[in-house]
Amino acid sequence: MAGFFFWAFALLRHSFLTFGLVGFARGGCRRAFLFLGVGMGFRLSSRSLARLSGVHDDLFSVVERAIQITDVDFTVLEGVRSKSRQKELFESGASSTMNSRHLTGHAVDLGAWVTGGVRWDWPLYYKIADAMKQAASELGVPIEWGGDWVTFKDGPHFQLPWNQYPSS
Ligand SMILES: [Zn+2]
Repeated sequence: MAGFFFWAFALLRHSFLTFGLVGFARGGCRRAFLFLGVGMGFRLSSRSLARLSGVHDDLFSVVERAIQITDVDFTVLEGVRSKSRQKELFESGASSTMNSRHLTGHAVDLGAWVTGGVRWDWPLYYKIADAMKQAASELGVPIEWGGDWVTFKDGPHFQLPWNQYPSS
């Protein structure tokens, strides 16, 4: 009988140990994964960085911070835009204005980047906007999202407001 208790206890202890270790390993990995996820996030590609050239420093900093905290990876589609390209977009109806903030480096377009390509599903853009808004608030930079506009919703578009950042 004593032998039975001994083995039962040994088995129980073994199970606790095993489950405990497995639980710890799982928890540990998860924590490490979360830590990596929070600490590193995504990175701006060299193409994205190139497309940010000429963009206002404050907006650049917001994008740089947003890529670290976003749930959805993104690529920079466009930063500074030439007047002739703006004219093309305006005439094709892709842009509603000739007075775009892209012309002066006060706007960027971000595309959701999923499994190696740009996706246009709105839910992805809400997540990118969350990251951009959080980054902006952390840095104390005011920002406008085209997705919040009522008449011409523009999910990829972020800009510095005219009021605080008049074009020089
Ligand atoms: Zn835009």
